[in-house]
Amino acid sequence: MRTEYSLPMIALTAIMVAAPAFGAGPRGSQPVQPVLADLDAQEAEALIFMREEEKLARDVYLAMDGLWQQLPFENIAQSEQKHMDAVKNAIDNYGLTDPSEANPLGVFTNTTLQQLYTDLTTLGETSYLEALQVGALIEEVDIEDLENTIAATNNLDLQTMYGNLLRGSRNHLRAFVAEIERQGVVYEAQLLSQEAVDEILDSPMERGGNGAGKRGSGSNRLGMADGLTFDDLIARGGNGSGKGPGDGTGTGTGQGRGKGNGQGLNQGVQA
Ligand code: ZN
Ligand code: ZN
Repeated sequence: MRTEYSLPMIALTAIMVAAPAFGAGPRGSQPVQPVLADLDAQEAEALIFMREEEKLARDVYLAMDGLWQQLPFENIAQSEQKHMDAVKNAIDNYGLTDPSEANPLGVFTNTTLQQLYTDLTTLGETSYLEALQVGALIEEVDIEDLENTIAATNNLDLQTMYGNLLRGSRNHLRAFVAEIERQGVVYEAQLLSQEAVDEILDSPMERGGNGAGKRGSGSNRLGMADGLTFDDLIARGGNGSGKGPGDGTGTGTGQGRGKGNGQGLNQGVQA
């Protein structure tokens, strides 16, 4: 049922990559900013698209927050606002026109994103679990689109910015899946390969910066579900300190799984 959403999204990526000639127009006669290389049409189109793709995430999560009033949506929507701001900043720096400047919540310039907003929010109205699945799907799509967009540019400035969004998206996916699994449901990849999703889920939450996050406890699915709140997940990123009681169900193996759960297990057993 959900897979029907994958195709239009994949098509979106294709549209984005095969952008029509955009020309050098938007910069017009503005003075050249020496620190920024010019964007080609494809880079400009991708940047503009990404602004509204981040808005799609934010607006869907705000709608879901209104419906279900659960922390993941509120917190992740705040994070998506930061992503939107980062893209807007780049749009301004490159002298492009923001497609969503005047658009209120739930309104998009891109008609495909507009339809997706309607479809995804409708789906998310059916249950809290389905809303979480919608969130995880959006993050999978964002991850794929960001990876493709990074691969399609040589602009280091943009790559860095997109890389930050990508890291955020992986954290968001981890957070949504933790909450899905807290409902007793095993998460299955919706767009990316299961292998790619598992690799993300089995690695720790990531902080900003280049690898500064220490591997913490609470970095795996059980740890997130049992030990950390969503505030922790979103705000603190990868260096979870392993607080939280643990419930003695830790089965962790491999990287990033051990410490927090191990402690939780011990506490659970001893207590
Ligand atoms: Zn985002
Ligand atoms: Zn996100």
